[in-house]
Amino acid sequence: MRALPTEYELVAPRTLPDVLSLLAHEPGAWLPIAGGTDVMVQYSAGKLAARKLVSIWNLPELRSLEVMADEIQIGAGCTYTDLRAHEVILRELSLLSSSASWTGGIANQNRGTIGGNIVNASPAADSLPALMVYGAELLLVSARGERRVPYASFHISYRKTQLAPDELIRAICLKRQFSGYYAHARKVGARNAQAISKVCHAALGLLTDGVVDDIRLAMGSVAPVPIRLSETERIIRGRSIDPQLIRLARAAAAAEIRPIDDIRSTSRYRAAVAANLVGEFLEQLSVHGARSENSQKVLARWNGLQSDKAAEEILPCCGSKAWARGMTTRRPVLNEEALLAACDEVWRNLPESDWLEAYRSHPRIGDSHTPASAPVQSAAWSSAEQQKVRAAGEDVKAALAAGNREYEQKFNRIFIVCATGKSAPQILAILRRRLQNDEKTELHEAAEQQRQIAHLRLKKWLSS
Ligand SMILES: Cc1cc2nc3c(=O)[nH]c(=O)nc-3n(C[C@H](O)[C@H](O)[C@H](O)COP(=O)(O)OP(=O)(O)OC[C@H]3O[C@@H](n4cnc5c(N)ncnc54)[C@H](O)[C@@H]3O)c2cc1C
Repeated sequence: MRALPTEYELVAPRTLPDVLSLLAHEPGAWLPIAGGTDVMVQYSAGKLAARKLVSIWNLPELRSLEVMADEIQIGAGCTYTDLRAHEVILRELSLLSSSASWTGGIANQNRGTIGGNIVNASPAADSLPALMVYGAELLLVSARGERRVPYASFHISYRKTQLAPDELIRAICLKRQFSGYYAHARKVGARNAQAISKVCHAALGLLTDGVVDDIRLAMGSVAPVPIRLSETERIIRGRSIDPQLIRLARAAAAAEIRPIDDIRSTSRYRAAVAANLVGEFLEQLSVHGARSENSQKVLARWNGLQSDKAAEEILPCCGSKAWARGMTTRRPVLNEEALLAACDEVWRNLPESDWLEAYRSHPRIGDSHTPASAPVQSAAWSSAEQQKVRAAGEDVKAALAAGNREYEQKFNRIFIVCATGKSAPQILAILRRRLQNDEKTELHEAAEQQRQIAHLRLKKWLSS
């Protein structure tokens, strides 16, 4: 952090009780500073009224991320990078990982905290709609004790919150109850990174037998505070998705928000975008519903197979026999989310020899010859995965072949990369970078790539 001029005072107590006692002693005199990504912007603009700053950066009590049986507590001092890296958040609260991924650039994500985003209380803040739809609760702490408040009522009016001058947010609590929901987030702005949202949106939907059982819609940058679209939700809930419902929901969303004209956009544009986002979400929810019905049929049949038959069927998704057997012991698997979670757990716990067996089931990148021992389905999938590589120019193909040889000499196995969607030059750059790895790092990078391949193949299998 840049050195502050002498009229400012900055202290950094080591523990949370020390910070709280300072705040209690002179309520309102001390401004907490966490990552400083908002405070220092105010300072640089000459708009920082506070002269006494107390650092809460890296306080262990604010930095923990606890996964409990029915709830996840995210320390207010967790950064966007922490959120993006956490497996359970990625799996169960993906709206938070998505919004973290487009909050500023990487440097900002390493430093900015979720607690700071909440208390800074910009109506355009990107993580706030996600907190709304997940029904978050905040743990507020002071020297007087701790209280728990629903996040939905935390913002009182434009940039005014329920936080008392002697209080900090200690943690954000989120229930683990969204298994089976379809989650969707969008940021509409000049661009994703380093741009303030014109409209940001987070949504969750649950379909049962084609009917919307639950729907949660929230938006930022369309009112003085982030809002839930409760009236739009009421219209949608309990109905099946058809063009008429989409028309009604779009109109309700546009009517429910209270956008303004400002430097980034106009209220008319924001209303049109809000309607489009709700319409887009409902269309995607409907497609997702049809897909998950199909997945459930595939899984119901697979759950009923004899173990050896079930292992044989799922083997091409990974290539390791121990993995395939491990997957069969997780049955019954009820949905895609549970299947992918089981995949990760089984894969992570396999010994190195089974990882190597999976790697051996792939053809070389740029080579159409699948190993003879690989199942027929695996060969078909490999061919589709390497589609873009086949279209590459001869010079890139030659460079890939040379890179493959160098890799095999160094690591004594073939180079594994999740090729889907990647061009040959992109893969070549990855290969050259990974040639610099030591053995242990490279084994784990390959394992992560194999995990991603398995996810894509499992999804293809479910839609078969
Ligand atoms: C280049 C850049 C790009 C950005 N891009 C985006 C973006 O795309 N989307 C977006 O939403 N934001 C963006 N931001 C804003 C910013 O990064 C976030 O609001 C960030 O989450 C603030 O966290 P912090 O820890 O840096 O807060 P700080 O600046 O340290 O503090 C902000 C406010 O929160 C208070 N505070 C912090 N933690 C606590 C706590 N635990 N309890 C009580 N009060 C607390 C502070 O007292 C202060 O009032 C960007 C900022 C920059 C500089």
